Amino acid sequence: MQSFLPKRAFFTSEIFMTSRREFVIQLSLGSSALLAGHAMAQAMVAEGDAQATALGYKADTTKVDGKKYANHKPEQNCGNCALFAGKAGDKAGNCPLFAGKQVAASGWCSAYAKKG
Ligand code: SF4
Repeated sequence: MQSFLPKRAFFTSEIFMTSRREFVIQLSLGSSALLAGHAMAQAMVAEGDAQATALGYKADTTKVDGKKYANHKPEQNCGNCALFAGKAGDKAGNCPLFAGKQVAASGWCSAYAKKG
């Protein structure tokens, strides 16, 4: 009976470690799935959205009305804006002015600020 107790304690510890390992793996897989789902769920900003209209957002910087937005320059786009949260080379990315949606890297809006 006494020889059983240490073995049981080891066994219990092993179950705990296995459960913990499985928990970490499942947590990791769950987080990856959530991130993938989050990225897929994000729609692109539509030029007709209220916020986009208010900021003069265009998905293509070459389509910006230069008369209405005299400060606009052709080389300005979301991809080189300080507010663009995408990585270099990304076709789209987040912008804090459009929560929950993505802007085109080739886009532009009147809040443009050159990336430092
Ligand atoms: S603030 Fe910058 S990144 Fe955001 S929409 Fe305007 S130009 Fe694009």
